[in-house]
Amino acid sequence: MWTPTAEGAHLRGRRTKDTKPEVELRHAVHALGLRYRLHRTVVGRCSPDFVLPRWRLAVFVDGCFWHACPLHGPKVFRGPNAERWKDKLAMNQARDERNNQALREAGWNVVRVWECEVRLDVHAAAQRVEALTWPTLTD
Ligand SMILES: [Zn+2]
Repeated sequence: MWTPTAEGAHLRGRRTKDTKPEVELRHAVHALGLRYRLHRTVVGRCSPDFVLPRWRLAVFVDGCFWHACPLHGPKVFRGPNAERWKDKLAMNQARDERNNQALREAGWNVVRVWECEVRLDVHAAAQRVEALTWPTLTD
């Protein structure tokens, strides 16, 4: 059982799709002339935030907290739920890793962009996605 805490309150009911950094990134990607599809389940139950089907490129925008960004992820867990938070984040990371692997095995390329990268410089983040769409495939 989770013990309700003030810290947990703002995390409840968070949207996991169409978050602000996600929307900003795909607008910036679109501005570079790249076309994407949203929330398409590509492999198993894994559905990236958006995909560039032409490049078989799966894009995830990872929240700094939930995906434990090296700069902004929690380093020390405190309070009555400390162990649960720790387990939950470790599970999230393991799931990210499994999803990456499943996608790669199915011939997809994977790019994960941190929420904070988008906040800092959305254009640079979009260019990181663009970098994986080169060279042009002739099909
Ligand atoms: Zn971060």
